[in-house]
Amino acid sequence: MKKALSQDEIYNNIKLSEQLNLHGVQIDSDLLRELDFKDTYLEQVHSCFNMNHTTYTETKLPDRFKNEGGFRFPVVYDPDSQYSITKECGKYYLNNKQGRLFEVFFGRKPAYYNKKASDGTPMSTVAQAAGSTHVSIAYSNECALNEKGLDCLFCNINATKRSYADLEGIAWKTPRQIAETIKAAYDEGYFSFTITGGFIPERREVDFYIDVAEAVRDITGLEDFGGSACIGAPLDLTVIDKYKEAGYRSIATNMEIWDEHIFKTIVPGKDQICGGRENWLRTLRREIEVFGRGRVRSTFVTGIEPKARTLEGFEYLTDLGVVAVPSYWCPNPGSALEGHRQPTVEWYHDLVQKTYILYKKNSISHLDFYISNNAEETIFDYLYDSDGDFLPWDAEKYAIAV
Ligand code: SF4
Repeated sequence: MKKALSQDEIYNNIKLSEQLNLHGVQIDSDLLRELDFKDTYLEQVHSCFNMNHTTYTETKLPDRFKNEGGFRFPVVYDPDSQYSITKECGKYYLNNKQGRLFEVFFGRKPAYYNKKASDGTPMSTVAQAAGSTHVSIAYSNECALNEKGLDCLFCNINATKRSYADLEGIAWKTPRQIAETIKAAYDEGYFSFTITGGFIPERREVDFYIDVAEAVRDITGLEDFGGSACIGAPLDLTVIDKYKEAGYRSIATNMEIWDEHIFKTIVPGKDQICGGRENWLRTLRREIEVFGRGRVRSTFVTGIEPKARTLEGFEYLTDLGVVAVPSYWCPNPGSALEGHRQPTVEWYHDLVQKTYILYKKNSISHLDFYISNNAEETIFDYLYDSDGDFLPWDAEKYAIAV
């Protein structure tokens, strides 16, 4: 039975999760070769970004693990990390330099990962499990900003494609492949998805997303199909209504950076191709008008600009009803910022706590966070649970356990 974690357990786990995000974890190649990624364990699929500290292609890598209490931790592979996962007597353990920390349980592979779309495309390459109810789809695994030399400086989507696309069979997806995969995932208990991806030439994403919505509706038979559309700021804001009319229940437009000067430098394509930073703000305001409070997300790559500027942005956006989400900047391989250093664990811990206070202050509920976010079992989910704000489908389980 699911058990709610105490505040202390949650904060200790959050700190460790932050350590693992920043320092990564090493796993011996022989141990990785032994893991059954075919039928048992969930592997990393590099459909968009490589979030490890190195480009590792010798074997597959596990995507995540949990501790005995059910708290989820990321696998950010780093062969030089002070953290390691080892195997003893058939069990796996997380260790630091001082010794063993706890037994780890690698994430399990959903059944749909071993199925194929009607054209033979492995569904594992189409949609990746974000948790037990949400899948994430990157419809394009490259970004057209690259042709203009305008990639976001923290982003390695194009480098990831060069390293992993052939190896893992990742390509652009069709609406039919996406809809068939969503149907297979929904048949085993998933019920929401986000569609995202790199910029495509001529910004034709609205037509594609409408085709996806139609195909999903046809193939699943669902009118409310649980979809979230992640888009770049459009020059014509009337297209935002089209996403709503197509049946998406939430929308995301990721600003990444708040400070107007740093925005121009770090996300030059988002500045130059999308009408400048002011148009990103206009877009988010319009999205709130169309989709409503708590149904619009903007993710930020945090740790590049000063924290005070990020929080100023979060204050403004959460007041509007936008779910402003901090993601950990990983100076990952192939990005222009490869080799740079992130802020400390304490820096991120403080940011997460202050962001959560803003969510509460602006009545952004757990359900709002879930519906707008392209992730599950995040630090914020655990914080909401600790406050007794459970997702509706978890509430009954917690009510029994707490
Ligand atoms: S818009 Fe920026 S963050 Fe998004 S895929 Fe392109 S380069 Fe990467």
